[in-house]
Amino acid sequence: MSDLRPDPICPNCGGKDLYVTVKTIPSGGGYSPDLLPGLRVWFGGGKFRAVVCTSCGLYRQFADEDARVRIKSSSKWTRL
Ligand SMILES: [Zn+2]
Repeated sequence: MSDLRPDPICPNCGGKDLYVTVKTIPSGGGYSPDLLPGLRVWFGGGKFRAVVCTSCGLYRQFADEDARVRIKSSSKWTRL
């Protein structure tokens, strides 16, 4: 959790009853959608945590620190 700093207030409804996954979730790839393309390595990576607002159901994903470091040199991502 140390690298995850989600807003404790829902950006959609202003609710404060939010839940975050205890562990990181693999971002997929292979036969499932790759939610963080180009950020996986052979030993893992490309993981995220999910935050859900129980008031409105907004589901947000936060890429872990490794993915955020790797994204800067990935050819599959471009800066906005
Ligand atoms: Zn909400």
